[in-house]
Order: sequence, then structure tokens, then C-alpha cells
Amino acid sequence: MKILENLWQVGGAEYTTVEDAAVYLVRFGEKAVLIDAGCGNAQEAMFENITKVLPPHVDIEYLLLTHCHFDHTGGAQATRKRYGCRIVAHELDAAFLETGDSTVTAADWYGARMNPLKIDFKIKTRKKTIQVGVGQLTAHHCPGHSPGSVVYLTEIEANRVLFGQDVHGPLEASFLSDRENYIRSLKFMMGLNADILCEGHFGVYRGKDKVRRFIRTYL
Ligand SMILES: [Zn+2]
Ligand SMILES: [Zn+2]
Repeated sequence: MKILENLWQVGGAEYTTVEDAAVYLVRFGEKAVLIDAGCGNAQEAMFENITKVLPPHVDIEYLLLTHCHFDHTGGAQATRKRYGCRIVAHELDAAFLETGDSTVTAADWYGARMNPLKIDFKIKTRKKTIQVGVGQLTAHHCPGHSPGSVVYLTEIEANRVLFGQDVHGPLEASFLSDRENYIRSLKFMMGLNADILCEGHFGVYRGKDKVRRFIRTYL
């Protein structure tokens, strides 16, 4: 699904398989990034969707993970193998991916196992800017749903686009969720003043008011 001229949804319940969280693809000139990778059960369908919209000479440089949960990361290994991209995650969630913790990564929920996943670049600060081709994204650490949840903010065709993914939670003890951090993170996200919110399971919200209203629902 085309969201903007250089932004597509290439994975998710309606596009690959019901277990998949949303996968977004952004092109910045001759480089591109993926936001999350789905659970890995419908990898070929996701690759086909990417092939349909991205010319072969455009290089997918990074796979940016928003957090460690299996529905967002189970497909990360195969995606790196296919495109040679570097995998980025916050260090607090990277720990559970690298050890293959099936409880904290929620793989258990899906009756699956999390295979240990090496993270190529770990975000260690509250804010980190990542250059991609002619553009950039800024990662903001927004803990709550998981300890190392990250949102990515970028500008595409004069729109402030927020990849918030699991804005809606849920909060679960087995995910090491933290309610106080979650509320603080939601307030922070409201302040980012995004024009478009790309959510992990609920689709795309357009317009500052709709974005704020969606986030506020969970406050
Ligand atoms: Zn999710
Ligand atoms: Zn999640």
C-alpha cells in the first residue's frame, strides 16, 4: 500500500499474514529502510511486495526495529540475509533478541521460538539520528510497552511521519512493560506533532488531530 510517494506498507495482517505487525518501507533517493520485519511466516510475500515498489538498484541499508516482539522481529534474520541490510535496535531490547528470549520477545504468544538475532547497531542514547541516503530518521527511546521500545520520526514530502508501532501497548508483566514509562512515552509522542502516524497493528493515521486523538486514547 502506497502511503506517500516514497513510503509504503509492505507487510502486516492485510498484506502478508495475520500474525505480522506492520512493515513499512521508506525510500530516500538511492537508499531505503525497512521499519520492522514481521514474524517471518510470510517472508516471501513481503519480499514480493518490496520488489513491486522498489527498483532493484535502490539499496535497503537498514532494518530499523521498533522493539523486540516476535511479530515485528521474527523475520529480521531472513530480511538481513535477503538485502544485506544492517539491523538496528535499542540496546535494552537487543539483549532479548541476542539471547533469543522467547518470553520477553513474546514469541511464546505465537507458539514460536525466538532464534538468537545479532543486532548490528545498538541505540544507547535517548535520541539518535540515522542518515539514510538523502534523508534521515531520528530514533527516540520510548519505553513502556517494552524496555527498549523506539519510535522513528522522519520527514517525507513535507510530512512529519512517526513510526510509533505498538503505541496501543499492551502492558504485560512478561514483556517487562512499565506503565509510568508508557504514559511518559505517549505524552512525548503527542509532542512530536506528527502529520502521519504509522502504527504497528492499527494502520496509518493522517492529520495532526487524528494522530493526537489516537495517541490520547491510550492515555
Ligand atoms: Zn506488535
Ligand atoms: Zn509489541
